[in-house]
Amino acid sequence: MTDDTAPLPAPETPEPEACPRCGKLPALCICAGIEPIANRIELLILQHPQEQDKGLGTARLTLLHLAKATFRIGLSWASLSKALGHEATPSKWAVLYLGSVEMKSLPQDREIVAVDAKGLPLADQFDPLKGLQGLILLDGTWSQAKTLWWRNAWLLKCRRFVLNPKRPSAYGKLRKEPRRESLSTLESAALVLSRLEKNEGIETAMQASFENLLAAYKAQQPKRDWRRRPRAKGA
Ligand SMILES: [Zn+2]
Repeated sequence: MTDDTAPLPAPETPEPEACPRCGKLPALCICAGIEPIANRIELLILQHPQEQDKGLGTARLTLLHLAKATFRIGLSWASLSKALGHEATPSKWAVLYLGSVEMKSLPQDREIVAVDAKGLPLADQFDPLKGLQGLILLDGTWSQAKTLWWRNAWLLKCRRFVLNPKRPSAYGKLRKEPRRESLSTLESAALVLSRLEKNEGIETAMQASFENLLAAYKAQQPKRDWRRRPRAKGA
């Protein structure tokens, strides 16, 4: 996998090779033994090209857990079908809504709430779940996800869900998220798929992996600060 035409300068401290399955360095690789679950609702993860959280990022790990899942890195795709690589109808898919939502307005007994274009809960919460074929997650920081949202107009044709999880993200203080419902990509996929497919096994397996990742991350924290990210120009 080396490119002979463009030799890389020797790094000062050689990096160990990342795991080809999960993309993590050996100290953070917890993917051994993960078997894909036969999910009915397909998953599509769109990742902003600058999302470089090699430590706590969960997109690839999420992919390993699910038989029907697609992972794409980029800024825009002409259509949902193009992003997926097969025919699909946006109105039969849902995307996690990124606009502002008054959390107090959400029904407290529901962890997945279907909202309208203004972010308000729909009166009928059952209809938006009927015939749902897939879920789209935008992976990246808040502003990166916003960019993906506005660059892909076909997302506006999708159903919109907001998560109102009973428990906060297992990230705890490892990541500064502005809102309680800001779950990791893995936790979001686990919550939606396990509830809508009525298969608790999805959430149990994925949550266990996430906790293993967090434990591995914490274990090697003193050696190196993985939270450090390259600063954007002008930031
Ligand atoms: Zn791995």
